[in-house]
Amino acid sequence: MALSAHHWLGVLLATWYFSVGFGITVAYHRVLTHRSANLRKPVLYALVLAGLPAGPPAAWVGNHRRHHSDSDGPNDPHSPITDGFWYAHCGWYLGIRNRGLCLLYALGGPLRYIVDMFLRPMSPGGHDALAKDVLEDHFLRFLSTRFGFMMGSIVQTLPFVLAYHLLAWDGVIIAWVAGIVFYNAGDAVNSVGHLWGKQDFGGDGAARNNRLVALVSLGEGWHSGHHAFPRSARHGLLKGQVDLSFMLLRMLAAVGLASDLHVPSEQAIAQRRHT
Ligand SMILES: [Zn+2]
Ligand SMILES: [Zn+2]
Repeated sequence: MALSAHHWLGVLLATWYFSVGFGITVAYHRVLTHRSANLRKPVLYALVLAGLPAGPPAAWVGNHRRHHSDSDGPNDPHSPITDGFWYAHCGWYLGIRNRGLCLLYALGGPLRYIVDMFLRPMSPGGHDALAKDVLEDHFLRFLSTRFGFMMGSIVQTLPFVLAYHLLAWDGVIIAWVAGIVFYNAGDAVNSVGHLWGKQDFGGDGAARNNRLVALVSLGEGWHSGHHAFPRSARHGLLKGQVDLSFMLLRMLAAVGLASDLHVPSEQAIAQRRHT
């Protein structure tokens, strides 16, 4: 039986969600920022291109390293504890503190590409040195310039072109709503992930393990585990904590596309565990 246009749209949205999601969680976060594993260059570059809605790679990596160096402290670029929910959720990208404007930005969906292209800082708060290793890579440095970021972002218009092809403007509207959900799922790691959930591990800011955030963000919601072991390729460190991003890294390692996956020992995990 041939698939209908609605079914194809579902396939398209799922592919978009997982490619952008894994682009951010695996390439931006676990590989580029924390060096939790190595990826073959073509795989890394493809995933970074997919993850571009998260922002220019060097700025993302630098800001995230700042986040880990002073989690929920005065130098954290996005803490809901010190700056409030909306600033940590999405306001910090553009330095917006007005809650109404933050909400508007959160509901912007794909329009955020356009705003980000022109207004998003390309440098991590003047802390370029924090992403020196990323800037040493020619392709990643190009994607971290405003021109490169704009060029790369054109790839992100593809789901809308295909959605229009499948279901005309209905398809575009459905893709738009999906885009709003996708963006906010990622943003929730920085906001919800430091406010609500279980602090299974202690000692580094207010990070929480939140099952719902972990589900929508492909494993990133195991944020307490991540802050306890930032270099671990696996964030869901406890029994029953499904971590799809780690599963993908393991699959890539099994076929020779990833290597050197860092995972803490059971003993180290038990020692850091809150009882
Ligand atoms: Zn965090
Ligand atoms: Zn991190």
